[in-house]
Amino acid sequence: MIEMDNNIFDLMKKANEITLKNHGNIITLERAIFLSWWCDKGDCAFCYMSTQKNKIKDPRKAKRNINNIYAEAEMCKRLDWNIEFLSGGYESFSTKEIKKIAANIKEITGDGVWLNTGITNDLEEFGNEIKGITGAIEIVNPKLHDKICPSKSLDDISQMLDISGDLGFKKAITIILGLGETLEDMDYLLNYIKNHKIDRVIFYSLNPHKETIYANSSQPASLYYAQVVSHVRLAFPKIEIICGTWIDNLANIGILILSGANGITKFPLFKMFGTKYGKRVEEEVKWSGRELKGTFTDKIKLGLEKSKFNPELDKFIKRYIKESLKNKY
Ligand code: SF4
Repeated sequence: MIEMDNNIFDLMKKANEITLKNHGNIITLERAIFLSWWCDKGDCAFCYMSTQKNKIKDPRKAKRNINNIYAEAEMCKRLDWNIEFLSGGYESFSTKEIKKIAANIKEITGDGVWLNTGITNDLEEFGNEIKGITGAIEIVNPKLHDKICPSKSLDDISQMLDISGDLGFKKAITIILGLGETLEDMDYLLNYIKNHKIDRVIFYSLNPHKETIYANSSQPASLYYAQVVSHVRLAFPKIEIICGTWIDNLANIGILILSGANGITKFPLFKMFGTKYGKRVEEEVKWSGRELKGTFTDKIKLGLEKSKFNPELDKFIKRYIKESLKNKY
């Protein structure tokens, strides 16, 4: 059983060596693209969407403008950010619509798209516009999972991931640390990765939202987060690990990279771009001895206020550039 390791630095040192050996020194910036602000389930105890469900009268209005989504993808391409996945609450877009959006984004970025759009039985409808499927496990303790995410059955998620693999898609899971799990649950996580042949693990740290039961909870400690990531890296040298950290916790970045992260995520990209916070992300990566793919500061990379793909995207591109140039902090 995994227990608290008093020699966290040894653990991180080993994890770092294994990461460098298997993945090289590039760190990616990952950006989740949201499709909508509506979720039909809306009952996961930690989730911002669960606080919005009763406030949204017409779910169709919570859908984002498609051209805005494409413009965001085009900006990610310009800044060399990876698209972490397309994400959206349940029942906001049909499978056909998601497939079309993914195909158009592939045109823009030149790369297949990961999906994190909920449990689905329609996987066979997808083709090479999709690179992989993400199962939102969220919490690595099955008993707590039933309480915290009552409408997202762990069995259904696992089954979807297994079918994804059979269809040739890669498989990812998302885990939020700080929901009540402990290091004792890490054996479950390691077994899950092994049994379902997971290619990519995305960790987030709890963001305690107002109006949820976690409103007054603390985010997980940096060295706890580091231990979890290090253990996963040591057990699975080749897996891709993405670590999320919020703008109020940027000091975690260097530690998480040294623990085995290949990419970092969960930033308000356009707000942070070019600011002291964007610069801090780049400094964290530099001081962990890595090279960043993409930029948080290079204004030239923002490019022209015109889309290369479709003039209907121009007004959104213009808005993203304006937001990136406005220092809000
Ligand atoms: S299913 Fe996803 S979007 Fe919906 S409430 Fe749960 S975590 Fe939030």
